Amino acid sequence: MSQLPPHETYRDHLSTVDGSGSRVWLYPKKPSGKFYRWRSYLSYFLLLLLFGLPFVKVHGDPILLFNVLEGRFIIFGIVFTPQDLHLFALAMITLMLFVVLFTVVFGRLFCGWVCPQTIFMEMVFRKIEYWIEGDANQQRRLNRGPWTATKVRKKALKHFLFFAIAVLIVHAFLSYLIGVDEVGKIISEPIHQHLGGFVAMLVFSGLFYGVFAFFREQVCLAVCPYGRLQDVLLVKDSIVVIYDWVRGEPRGKMKKKRRAPRPAALAGATIPYSDGYTASDVISVPKLGDCVDCRLCVQVCPTGIDIRNGTQLECVNCTACMDACDGVRRKINRAEGLIRQDSEHGIKKGQQKIVTPRELDYSVVLGLLLVFQVLLFSTRSEVETLILRTPGMLYQEVDEQHLSNLYNYQLINKTNLTIQDLELRLQADYGRIELVGNIPDIPKQELSEGAFFIILPRAQLTGRKTRLAIEVYAGGQLIDRVKTNFLGPAH
Ligand code: SF4
Ligand code: SF4
Repeated sequence: MSQLPPHETYRDHLSTVDGSGSRVWLYPKKPSGKFYRWRSYLSYFLLLLLFGLPFVKVHGDPILLFNVLEGRFIIFGIVFTPQDLHLFALAMITLMLFVVLFTVVFGRLFCGWVCPQTIFMEMVFRKIEYWIEGDANQQRRLNRGPWTATKVRKKALKHFLFFAIAVLIVHAFLSYLIGVDEVGKIISEPIHQHLGGFVAMLVFSGLFYGVFAFFREQVCLAVCPYGRLQDVLLVKDSIVVIYDWVRGEPRGKMKKKRRAPRPAALAGATIPYSDGYTASDVISVPKLGDCVDCRLCVQVCPTGIDIRNGTQLECVNCTACMDACDGVRRKINRAEGLIRQDSEHGIKKGQQKIVTPRELDYSVVLGLLLVFQVLLFSTRSEVETLILRTPGMLYQEVDEQHLSNLYNYQLINKTNLTIQDLELRLQADYGRIELVGNIPDIPKQELSEGAFFIILPRAQLTGRKTRLAIEVYAGGQLIDRVKTNFLGPAH
């Protein structure tokens, strides 16, 4: 038995679970309207990016690559290696803070308009379903009806297309992991050469197919961690899809004026109407708000909620209910925007306030992090240089005036181009470097390793350890500088 007041009882249950705990399958009505149109355009653009970007290359490398298996990352043509982990960590912190700030100000707009789950579900899979099975009522009838030849044909076509698109999606994601050329090889070469990859592809395709064919809105309602965070992120000034209860309530169906029962006092009076009522008997229904209780906003909702109950965790801010309500209002000649993007305070006070002290604080921190991040990115060297004294070796005497130390070096080329004519120089104007062999040209994203001696005059030693700086030049241009120690005798 619910302990909540009647207007809060919707909090007692999930729209997709019935009293016995079974899943309630949703049949959202096909939305239409300007927001749905804009969402469709944005989705097509984002889908084009998702499937097109793996084919865009910079100096022969993908513009985006997240090869976690080999620790190779390329973001907009800039190569990141595991040595750049600190940049990644900071980028992740900045991103998380941005998400928090964005959510505080604009609510869950990302979910409804940009999230791949919503884009694929609502703009790809759902559209195919509408195309094959029809709108909500036709789908309901088809699912409840017997297995006729038409039903088998429709279901087979739908699930075949769903699985085919799931395979495509897996290949697109795989292209971001290992590059489109590798994916091409896996596709074109015999299966036994890529058995592991083939099995992984099948498993993930099955997973995507299962999500979009069956699990659907449950991803947003029960799995997505970002969805669960809404409770703590949203404030009363956050802009969300919201029902204007001030204007809309009390809701009620549009009715023609009705007449009151004939009062007893009128018994025997002149009867002006054939049905026995006078003009003064005609009364109006109580003054109603703007919501005509058509429930179209509920019927189009892909998470099955009634937005008129207030902001709910299930709402992904897809704006389908805004379109539905505006459509109704245009038909009955009333002002649009009964469901709109606004804040709870905005509805209550009739004004929208975007910047609050909390949002200002977040913005300042975000701004500082962004500046720091840009600074780190702009000062990032194109070569990662690692120089270590050879373990277990002390100094060697070259002659009476000079000592030497043996070092190992590792140069990692983080660019998309071959680095040529590499040199190591001592920053100090005394002493010299003698390479063991030469430093070869380093192809893009590869490394070169070797050894060299540093020879210093005894007179320049500052103690058992002398600090030195070594500069790395390519084609005469300084590209990196590292510090090391020179080991000498104890004084
Ligand atoms: S309530 Fe409206 S905005 Fe929220 S999920 Fe449902 S249709 Fe989309
Ligand atoms: S679509 Fe608009 S008018 Fe119809 S029930 Fe929803 S809020 Fe009320």
